[in-house]
This record gives sequence, structure tokens and C-alpha cells, in this order.
Amino acid sequence: MGPDCVFEFSGDVQGANVLEQKVNAVFGDDEPTGFGTGWWSGVLSAFFGVLALGAVVCLHFPQLLTSPELRAYYPMQVMRLLIQALIVAAIVFGLASAILRRKKVLGLTGMLLALAATLWGGASVPINQPLHNGPAIGLDWFLLDMLLMTLIYSPFEVLWPAYPKQGIFRNEWLLDVVYFLSTHLPIQITSFLILLPATQLTTVFGIPAVLRAMAQLPWLVQFLLAILVADLAEYAIHRAFHSVPVLWRFHAIHHSSKALDWLAGSRSHLVDDVVVRAFILIPMMFAFPHDIIVAYLFFVTLHATWTHSNFRPSIRWLEPFLISPRYHHWHHTSQQEAIDKNFAIHFPWIDRIFGTYYFPKDAWPEAYGLADEKIPAGFWGQFFYPFRLAR
Ligand SMILES: [Zn+2]
Ligand SMILES: [Zn+2]
Repeated sequence: MGPDCVFEFSGDVQGANVLEQKVNAVFGDDEPTGFGTGWWSGVLSAFFGVLALGAVVCLHFPQLLTSPELRAYYPMQVMRLLIQALIVAAIVFGLASAILRRKKVLGLTGMLLALAATLWGGASVPINQPLHNGPAIGLDWFLLDMLLMTLIYSPFEVLWPAYPKQGIFRNEWLLDVVYFLSTHLPIQITSFLILLPATQLTTVFGIPAVLRAMAQLPWLVQFLLAILVADLAEYAIHRAFHSVPVLWRFHAIHHSSKALDWLAGSRSHLVDDVVVRAFILIPMMFAFPHDIIVAYLFFVTLHATWTHSNFRPSIRWLEPFLISPRYHHWHHTSQQEAIDKNFAIHFPWIDRIFGTYYFPKDAWPEAYGLADEKIPAGFWGQFFYPFRLAR
């Protein structure tokens, strides 16, 4: 697939962080990356190896490394089968890659990780201690969601990319993995900030008459209304993040991606994330029952991730009604004609109503990122950047 150079740094090498350059140098090579070259089997082997070893670590330290919110829902038989499957897949793909490819390090790494996972007890590590609620890191949630999101989005991006030369290891891919980590490891804090207001405060703040009237409507109508209320709120706060200088410093982080894919959607400053979520959830709590709000949270995660993906095909008749990747990509361009356009995240006609709609026929942007603003390259530099400037 793609060009003849893998782990390619496109242009701005200074922007990439040092660790990423090292990873690229150790694992990358300049052989072709099409199917049958051992490239994809190597990548899959290393990926499954990391997940398998991470899962075995979770089995050894469940109290510390698994989230109490999720533990109760795990069918452990199935989870153990999944871990076993990851180990086997890492070895099989690793072997295939080592046979097919001149540079063996990718396939060997995957096999080594799988071997380490097996030697450390593999899928059958018993959980002896009784688990109780308490502070924990959501390593399980990070591994599981990484696997899920990769399975859902990556095949589309690999098979039908909008930018075939981009590749999955584009510039700053590792930085975005760190962003993904940063929202998954503290799951107790994030679920407290998101799910608690969504599910519990509805009963406190909900207006009984409105809630009763809402309950009369069919589920689908309630759901669509919830998306509408959420997107109107999102439009307002998103536009504010673009036009108020203090807020823009936070939102600039999300706009700093020079190439978009599903993972780039996770690059967002914590303050940006929390403020936007609160702004969306508060109006929803007045009118919608908690199951609708939870359903919306699933929908927004899937849809917002989708709109960032490097995926070209589109359902033409649906484009005016529901935002497609090409539409949100125009929001991320550094081209003058589309700056401060396309603020909605679900319904493009909201932008039409407020005069911020930009969607040229069939065209994709040529350049992404911040036009003339330089922000730090690393995660912590970006975290402190808005505060530093806001003196
Ligand atoms: Zn924006
Ligand atoms: Zn975005």
C-alpha cells in the first residue's frame, strides 16, 4: 500500500518528537509496503504483541491497572480467549513478516512481545485477589479501545484513503498515541466528568414536564433531537473557541495536526475537551433521559472519530445531512478560504444557517494545520502552551 517509503517524515522533521524519530529509524525501512511485502504483517505482529503483553500485565495487576467501571462487564472467558488470539496472531504475523521482509526487526519485535506475554503466564494468569473499587489506571480501557478503534477505522483508511501517500505512520503519529493514552488512562476522572453528569444530574436538573413530553416521543426522534441540541451547543462553544483569543490557545492544539486520520481526532487539550463536553451535556440534561444521553455519547465518539479519518469515499446524498470526513477536513485546513468555517460536528446545515458553511464540490484541502502559529512539539509543551501565553 502507499508510497515506497515507510515511516516517512513528511517535511517538518523538527516538529516530530525525538522518540518518534527513533522509533521510525529502528523499525522503518525503504522497501515497498504493499500487501505481500511483509510490511503489514510486521506492523500487525508488533501491534498485537504490544496489546497481548499489555493485557497480561493487566491480569497481573488488575487492582492497579484495570478500571473498576469496566471490570464488572468483562466476560473473562472471552477476554482470555482474545488475549490468546492476540498472542497467536502476533507470532503468526511476525513469522510471515520475518520471512518476507529484509529488515526483520518489526516481525521479531512482535514475536518477542508475544513470547514475553506467554512466559509471563499468558492468557491464563489467575486473578486471585478480590478486587475493590478505588483509584486505578485505565490501561485495560486504553488497550481495548485502541484495538476496537483500529479494527473499526484503520481498514477503511488503508483500503480507501483520501491521501494515499500519508500512511498510518505519518508525522506525529506517536504524539497522537500519547493523546489517546492521556484520555484513556485517567478513565476514572474522565468518566466522572462525563458520565456522572450525563446519568445522575439528569434527575436533579431535568425539567419534569419536558422530560415527560420527551418520553412520549419515539426513541429515534428523541435521539435525533438530542444530536440536534448537542450540535447546536457544540456549534456555539466551538465558534467561541475560534473567536475568543484565550480559548483559541487551547483549541489551537486540536488544529495543529498537519495530517488527519482517526487518531489525529484525539489530539485535544484537556481544557478544550472538558469545556466542550460540559457545554454540550448541560443543555441535554434538562430535556433528555440518561439512556438517550449515553447513546449520544457513543454516537459522538464514533462519528467525531470518523470525521477525522483519512477516508475518501462518501455517500453523496447523505452529505448535506450528516457530516462526512471531507467536510470536517475542511475545518482543519490552513487554506485561507476555509478558515473559521464548518464548526458543526454532526449536521452541516447548522453551518449553512449561521453562514459558516464551506464545502467545495469534490475537493479535499491541500494543506492542514495552523497557518502562521507555532506551537511546541511535545505533549507537555502543548499542555502548558495556552497557560504560558495567557499571562
Ligand atoms: Zn475548530
Ligand atoms: Zn477536528
